[in-house]
Amino acid sequence: MWAPLLRLQEALGPEAELVVVGGAVRDELLGRPHSDWDLATRLMPRAVMDRARAAGLKAIPTGLQHGTVTVILEERPIEITTFRSDGDYLDGRHPESVRLGVSLEEDLSRRDFTINAMALPVGGGDLVDPFGGRADLAARTLRAVGDPLLRFAEDGLRTLRACRFAAQLGFEVEAATLAAIPERLAVARKVAAERVLTELTKLLCGAEPQRGLDLLAETGLLDLWLPELRPMLGCGQNRHHRWDVWRHALEVVRRVPADPGLRWAALLHDAGKPAARTLGPDGEVRFHGHEAGSLLLVTAILERLKAARALRDDVLALVRHHGTHPTAEWSEAACRRFLRRLAEDGLEVARWGAFRLADQQAKGMDGEAREHGHAAIMARLEAVAAAAPPLTVRALALDGAALMALTGRPGGPWLGELQRDLLEAVIEDPGLNTPETLASLVRQRP
Ligand code: ATP
Ligand code: MG
Repeated sequence: MWAPLLRLQEALGPEAELVVVGGAVRDELLGRPHSDWDLATRLMPRAVMDRARAAGLKAIPTGLQHGTVTVILEERPIEITTFRSDGDYLDGRHPESVRLGVSLEEDLSRRDFTINAMALPVGGGDLVDPFGGRADLAARTLRAVGDPLLRFAEDGLRTLRACRFAAQLGFEVEAATLAAIPERLAVARKVAAERVLTELTKLLCGAEPQRGLDLLAETGLLDLWLPELRPMLGCGQNRHHRWDVWRHALEVVRRVPADPGLRWAALLHDAGKPAARTLGPDGEVRFHGHEAGSLLLVTAILERLKAARALRDDVLALVRHHGTHPTAEWSEAACRRFLRRLAEDGLEVARWGAFRLADQQAKGMDGEAREHGHAAIMARLEAVAAAAPPLTVRALALDGAALMALTGRPGGPWLGELQRDLLEAVIEDPGLNTPETLASLVRQRP
């Protein structure tokens, strides 16, 4: 138990019955790190406010009508919610009303999964576990509290949370809970795009993302938000690949670091393959130009999910450059031209390399040879990058103002054109990047 919680317990008094609830209990029992502590109490929110303040703690009435007060402990916001039950769910997402002042057991019964429906008294005492959450944790099982058909009918987000927790924890979804998901897709469809994106990103960044993704495909949730990915399932590849396009993508997802941009790019990088698939005269499967198709799908999908521009641009950059395969024999100038393209998209070469390595490994064949080849390419690119060659217009030894002064011309489209030409020249030969040499290059132009 986190020590500052004891101070809060003292401030609220024993009749508060302060307990840790939800994800924090689950993660504590699993020995898993967690960021937030959710607390629950028998006290009404006003009393929580008054007693916390009387003890010199900062308390904020963040959601009094839902029974929630935020108290700051050691500069961390901690939510304390009065034991409550939910009224009827009419919109497939939120209860119409909540009732405060119910028992702890009733509060736990509104929670989604048994492993999320336990409470740990802050002042010490036994775990409160009316639905067998501890046994399900031990058996690594995700099970709805109560009748899953009813619980998923109340709130469609829970279907998605089931897949997300399975991916984060590596748990099996219990049979009746799993079987209820396809029955409740109409409710799941009502979840707001932003929430879907958050859940899918957590799923992708989980310890076993392939498990969550297979669940999405198996239950039909995939078709609600990522219908374009369905043709990847069973889309056979060529002799360079062990797996179909879907399995390959899942293998890349689990191999790249757990970072939203890398994981989304891994899922989507070959989404354009099914539509680009052709059979050559030699009987070999080809996917000419699939990157362009993938880029269009990335844009459509991330727009639908209302992703922030930073995530979208990051994913687009990774997908755009995943099909370039430098060789260790590339000239230095060729390496610099490639590094420039990455720089223009704000993509670091190490990040590009991490993605490419996973993509290579996920072909599932000739692993060692591919890893060696990749290491040689990275060594080559990194050696060229280590010399810090000029890769963008900003790195030119003469800036825009200097070029205008030199030519005596006011700014205009000609300036960008000139800068691009100068950059081409210094990428071929970085030794040209001095003010004097650039000035003489400018003077030689017609
Ligand atoms: P994490 O914080 O890692 O996302 P969590 O389980 O803590 O996981 P929260 O969204 O923080 O999830 O919610 C805290 C608790 O509130 C959950 O553990 C669960 O008991 C309950 N809860 C959250 N969302 C729902 C929901 N849609 N339906 C029912 N109970 C929910
Ligand atoms: Mg939480």
